[in-house]
Parts: sequence; C-alpha cells; structure tokens
Amino acid sequence: MSPYKYRRVLYIEMKFIETEKRCTKCGKELPVSAEYFYRDGVNKDGLRPDCKVCHDSDMKEYLQTERGKKAQQKADKRYYDTINGRLQSVFSDMNQRCNNPKNKRYKHYGGRGIRCLFTLDSFKDYVTDTLGYDTYDEIEGLQIHRIDNDGHYEPGNIEFLAPEQYKEEHRQMKSEKWLLELTVA
Ligand SMILES: [Zn+2]
Repeated sequence: MSPYKYRRVLYIEMKFIETEKRCTKCGKELPVSAEYFYRDGVNKDGLRPDCKVCHDSDMKEYLQTERGKKAQQKADKRYYDTINGRLQSVFSDMNQRCNNPKNKRYKHYGGRGIRCLFTLDSFKDYVTDTLGYDTYDEIEGLQIHRIDNDGHYEPGNIEFLAPEQYKEEHRQMKSEKWLLELTVA
C-alpha cells in the first residue's frame, strides 16, 4: 500500500468520527449520542441539532400555546382511535372503578370486592389474542362486561357487548336478583 492511500483513509475516518457537537439552541458542546440528543433520521448523524434539554423546554412551551394544545388533542384523538388506545382507556376506567375509592362507581366494583386481575399488557394480549379483536372498528362502541357479575375482571370472565346486549344482560341480572330476594324472603 502506498503512503498516499494510507493518509487518505485516515483523513476520511477522522472526518466522520466527531465525538462532540454544539447544541444550536444553548450552544453547549455535548457528546454526539442519543443520550444528549433526540434521534432524527433527517440529519446526517441521526440526531436533532438541539440538545434534549432545549428540545424538552421548547416542547413544554409549545404545548402551552393554543396551537400546541390543539396539536396534542389531535394526537390524543388519533391514539384513542386505535385499538391500543381504546384498550388503554377501557383498562384505565376498569382500574379506576376497582381501585380508586373516589371514583363514583367504586362502590359497585372495588367497594364490593371486584378486582382487576389484568395488567395493561396482559389485558391487551387477552383481548387481541384470546377474544380475537384485532382492529379498532371491531371493538368501537362495545362495552366490557363481566360474565359472572360477582367475578373479577380476569381471563375467562370478560366479554365485550354492544350497548343493547349490555342493557339486556343487566336488566336480566336485576330481575334475577329481585326474584332471588323475593324467594329468600
Ligand atoms: Zn441545548
């Protein structure tokens, strides 16, 4: 190998291994790493030009503005229109009913010993893998229902019903309970 070639390779390598870069906002010299800069495929080094601290504070300010608030609401709405978003919201309501004494429906759930035995992940897996709901459209508008009204939110005891089915189930449950009370009395 001639000395000329060797120098050229070295030069190219040195040019690309830059270890620090200057944040375009605060001017700090920081290591070129995803620890200090958010990833952004648009840029050559795959990172944003401003550091994480600057970007976070900009985002915070942006979310306080009317435009920022609207963008956030839009993003939330898009998320809740996906099956993941929908299941997360069902799960969070279920947890509130079972675990938050301040929830106005707690007395009918946690208050009488009904527990939520799912984690968010196991709930999502159960609904998609076992109950077979794959898309938002399939589950939209359906209500979660415990098959045994005295059982927990747990595998084998939940299903999703359309509002009219749900009403019918609960109407029947009420009349059975009423009949039982009548018989026992
Ligand atoms: Zn910065």
